[in-house]
Amino acid sequence: MSFDELAGENPGRPPLARELSPKALGDLVVEEGGKPFHGRILAECVHQKGILDFDRISNLSKALRKKLAKRISLSSTAVLQRSTGNEGTTKYLLGLEDGESIEMVLIPDGKRNTVCMSTQVGCPIACIFCASGLLGVRRNLNRTELLEQFLLARQELGESPLTNIVVMGLGEPMLNLGELLPTLDHIVGHFGFSARRITVSTSGTSDRIRAFARSGHPFGLALSLHAADGELRKRLVPTASEDPRSLVRASQDYFGATGREPTFEIVLLRNWNDEPQHARALARLLHRQRGHINLIPWNQVEEIPNLNSPEPDRVDRFRDILQNEGLKVTVRRRRGRDRNAACGQLRLGRSPQPEKGSKHISGN
Ligand code: SF4
Repeated sequence: MSFDELAGENPGRPPLARELSPKALGDLVVEEGGKPFHGRILAECVHQKGILDFDRISNLSKALRKKLAKRISLSSTAVLQRSTGNEGTTKYLLGLEDGESIEMVLIPDGKRNTVCMSTQVGCPIACIFCASGLLGVRRNLNRTELLEQFLLARQELGESPLTNIVVMGLGEPMLNLGELLPTLDHIVGHFGFSARRITVSTSGTSDRIRAFARSGHPFGLALSLHAADGELRKRLVPTASEDPRSLVRASQDYFGATGREPTFEIVLLRNWNDEPQHARALARLLHRQRGHINLIPWNQVEEIPNLNSPEPDRVDRFRDILQNEGLKVTVRRRRGRDRNAACGQLRLGRSPQPEKGSKHISGN
């Protein structure tokens, strides 16, 4: 599509450069007084490098960048806030064009650099331990907003490569598969990112897990299970209506379709689901199932004062019970115990009141 056609479609803002062909970008550069090779530099920065900020295109003159910035935009999202914890985890509050905001987290860990992406503005699932669920959901993110989280993560890392993507931020990814899967496909196809290094997390449902498995994308699946008992799970995830057994069956169908073992995520909360009986029930549920259990001791956050982190020896006991039953288990000590490090807190700090139009819809 040409610049003029795109500009006509979006009279309110300059068109996104990413939506213009290399030729259209080159024509625009020449129109603004640049040389054809400047156009090639711009096209490479936009289409291959995915640069989101004119200041980072230092091999074009400042004057030319200033003129181009009036005609095209490199990003539809803006970084409103960066918050880096003492372990190097950086949380970003991103402003969207309609005034909404989302979060994205960058987690460096040795040679591994992981971005945690959001899929919705807010979240409808309302897990009792999650700040994101406190405000309900406003809308799904579109492909541009999803892709720009990936591009921003790469840009922020500079020379250091982005190695992993986890889709575990704000929102229930399975409620936005129509935008998410093409975006991940583009990340794999256009940027050469390995599909095996992308994991999508979900609270349910079995229908959506099967649709995800059938989609033909070899992405990882993390099932947020939290408890083997349906009643207890419903207390932890109030919108959950499906029996954990049927979710586990769907996860095994996912394994059958993709050959990839799912991960079962268990957020452990003191006196809620961290007792030996809960571990034994989980061991029974997951006996002979393909997959890996990830125990996540919950971190205390001030927005949710009625819940507590589990005692470390309780977590160890929980793990031992599962391992003694032959199950594969890891304990993920959550990085970033600092203020604002937990999911949803930056956005919550900005929007203290429940938002008009927010809703909790059943994703489970
Ligand atoms: S933990 Fe995940 S699914 Fe649950 S409310 Fe938070 S963002 Fe939503």
